[in-house]
Amino acid sequence: MSDGTTYSAPGLKVVSLGSRGRGVVAERNFKQGEVIAIWRGSIITESEVLQLSESERSQLLQVDENAFLVTSKALVNADFINHSCEPNCGFTDSTTLVAMRDIKAGQTITFDYAMSDTKTIFAFDCWCGTSKCRKKMSGNDWQLADLQERYAGWFAPHVARLIKQSRH
Ligand SMILES: [Zn+2]
Repeated sequence: MSDGTTYSAPGLKVVSLGSRGRGVVAERNFKQGEVIAIWRGSIITESEVLQLSESERSQLLQVDENAFLVTSKALVNADFINHSCEPNCGFTDSTTLVAMRDIKAGQTITFDYAMSDTKTIFAFDCWCGTSKCRKKMSGNDWQLADLQERYAGWFAPHVARLIKQSRH
């Protein structure tokens, strides 16, 4: 461990998902509330994001309305955690991902990108295969009442703020 680098909890393993790239599975049980990852890197603005290539954009985490964290070039386990429309992790602050519920060894570690993404530049087709799959992740999905209910308390702070404002 050193300053300024992303933290991945011990007991995470990167696995190949064939044509869908890579993902992360738990090698042990995680308790609800346990920290899974704390991302670190440098912060750039939306106009700087637009200059990045597709692959560089895949290493971004939106941390505020106009602030995006670019993780370090040396990728760690946490950088391969995928989106799911039925995730098992959520945020306790803008860069800390924790287990939303107990996670068993062998299960895939995921969060819903709608918990942090509010920009259409992040839109993509989803193949998560869960029964709740939205097929498209749009950047506006945080506005869906179903998600606001299921992820209450687990959205990144800037998204929680938008939700609160939208209700006034
Ligand atoms: Zn999905």
